[in-house]
Amino acid sequence: MDIEAFRKAGHEVVDKICDYYASLEQRPVGAQVKPGFLREAVPDEAPEKGEEWSVISKDYDEIILPGITHWQAPGFMAYFPANATFEGCLADLHAAAISNPAFNWSCSPSVTELEILVLDWIAKALHLSPAFLSTSEVGGGIILGSASEVAVTVMVAARERALAMLSDARGAEVPADGGARPEATVQETGTQHKDLDDEEQWGKWRGDATGRLVAYGTTQTHSIGSKACLILGLAFRALDVKAEDGYALRGDVLRKALEEDTAKGRVPFMLIGTFGTTSSGAVDNLKEIGQVAKDYPMLWLHCDAAYAGVAMSLPEVREASTDLAAINECFDSYSTNMHKWGLVQFDCSPLFVRDRGALTRALTVTPEYLRTKHGDAGSVLDLRNMQISLGRRFRSLKVWFVLRSFGLEGFRAHLRNGISLAQGFAEQLREHGKPFAIVAPPRYALVVFRLDPTGAGGQSEELDALNRRFWEAIQEYSKEIQLTQTVLPEVGFCIRLVVGAPSTRQQHIDMAWRILQECADKTLKA
Ligand code: PLP
Repeated sequence: MDIEAFRKAGHEVVDKICDYYASLEQRPVGAQVKPGFLREAVPDEAPEKGEEWSVISKDYDEIILPGITHWQAPGFMAYFPANATFEGCLADLHAAAISNPAFNWSCSPSVTELEILVLDWIAKALHLSPAFLSTSEVGGGIILGSASEVAVTVMVAARERALAMLSDARGAEVPADGGARPEATVQETGTQHKDLDDEEQWGKWRGDATGRLVAYGTTQTHSIGSKACLILGLAFRALDVKAEDGYALRGDVLRKALEEDTAKGRVPFMLIGTFGTTSSGAVDNLKEIGQVAKDYPMLWLHCDAAYAGVAMSLPEVREASTDLAAINECFDSYSTNMHKWGLVQFDCSPLFVRDRGALTRALTVTPEYLRTKHGDAGSVLDLRNMQISLGRRFRSLKVWFVLRSFGLEGFRAHLRNGISLAQGFAEQLREHGKPFAIVAPPRYALVVFRLDPTGAGGQSEELDALNRRFWEAIQEYSKEIQLTQTVLPEVGFCIRLVVGAPSTRQQHIDMAWRILQECADKTLKA
């Protein structure tokens, strides 16, 4: 494709995207295809000869689009939203055009500098402490691809910090640098062993110390916690939470676990506190966690606010709890997904840390070919040193376009629309009462409910079976709405409805409510 062909095709694609958005409401929300459907439509091998763009473009419409679930449709109320905006689309188009891995500042200074600037914009909009801003010169952030990537990255930093502290505590027995690899090995390729004895001694001590590290979360923490531990070969302990606490981790539960593990010679090194869990939107008791952690200086506190974190931009959310104060006072890191409810398309997961040195100490490897004049002089931040991969996407551009075009006012209005529609739906459920029951305090734009025809509450096989049938009935309406199921402790099987697509309006909530009533009738009659 040459420039003029791209110009023409590009205009056509933008037209198609506009038509797509204009027709979203008429499309089935859920993809209506069977597993393996593409095998029949797409050849087994790449074509030997290049094909005409018009053919490729037609195949996108006819073969690919039918297998797409329309997350931007107003009836999409499943998982958490994955907002998209035209501003974000345009930014991604530019980013794709200049395709630039920008691992070092000098690869493309704008990419690094814009990222650092928009991270400060976000931190200020969410009222994070100035300690998390780049202007603090100590703290700051980076935009990663996902909350999962954030969890692994932060866990590496927490692990290295804990090992350094353990090493300090052992005094002269291990190297003063905290048992880090000998300098020459780190700076070069990681495969050269200058001094095998050192390396062996280092490995033995480190292996033993690492085996004692434990990370904590709750049964409601997203699987990013246990997955990060799985990847890094570390232990994860999921603490119990109770329905009466709104599924929040309490300080006494945490303290007991830390004391038990410490008594057994284990080393608590990280806790993931959640601000808005996936199943119910629960918020761990961040204030109590912060208090307990004061007695465990090795414990890195990370706040996973993947979904609800953007709501910190609303004064009514900030003022309703002590969560922000606790994060600002006690937490080492905070992360939210702009690509969920934050109007920026996937992927965009800003991570803020109080001490960016903890990341760079853990993740800096500088072979000769990555050295630059400014990097050597320490006059720039090379973002590769704060992440796992080397290359990185130009994600800050879409944040910049979106925040400028919507303004913080528009950003807040979007969040408030979701919250007020969801709270209205919760009110409708409450007023209606039996056979419906709300099973967790509605949080932000998430409502979790089930059928409980007698209103007795509690957990039972009968209620689970009934609600699984209810769920099957709801899935019959996958063209109109998409919801998600979950399981909550002391409740069992239940249904989640999340409002978050910018296009969702009251009429779509009314439609969902009608469908749910029909499904409830059918299930109970059967
Ligand atoms: N944390 C929470 C609370 C989530 O709800 C999710 C996804 O829904 C994640 C983490 C994982 O997000 P990501 O896909 O960015 O890894």
